[in-house]
Amino acid sequence: MFAVGRCACAAAAGQRRFTMRTRTPLPDDTVALRQMLVAVGISLPLGFLATVAALLWLRHWAEPGPFWSWGLAGWLAHCLELGVLGALGLGAAVFAVLSRIQCRLGYHRCPFCNRVKKRFGELCSCPRVQGFLREAEEEAKRRPNPARRSGPRDPKAGRSPAGR
Ligand SMILES: [Zn+2]
Repeated sequence: MFAVGRCACAAAAGQRRFTMRTRTPLPDDTVALRQMLVAVGISLPLGFLATVAALLWLRHWAEPGPFWSWGLAGWLAHCLELGVLGALGLGAAVFAVLSRIQCRLGYHRCPFCNRVKKRFGELCSCPRVQGFLREAEEEAKRRPNPARRSGPRDPKAGRSPAGR
């Protein structure tokens, strides 16, 4: 879609007037994110419409008769909740399938060691990532949690302006 290279005529003649910068290929993460956004963005309204259409068909199948009545409007309003649920369900299914495909194709990699992640959101086992995790755990242990009342209290917490 964005296959923009150098303008062939200008490059051949060595002119600078119409040269375009060669576009570097997008990183795999960016491609994967865009694919995911498009796929889920399409599947959400599709799931909504499919659910509402299926419910309409069920209603018409259960009570054959004239399709339109004013009761249908109120009934459709009740269907919206189920439509939203259907949209979320289809979106989640598309997300699960697509993320699995992307992981199999090697789109998601660790930014530090470039190892392919096996699952979406998985943390790598390389020393850098594990080091970050360890640091975060130590930091969490060192700081008192203000939301938790019980537990050891920091004696300096009362005097500091931030803590209570
Ligand atoms: Zn790694």
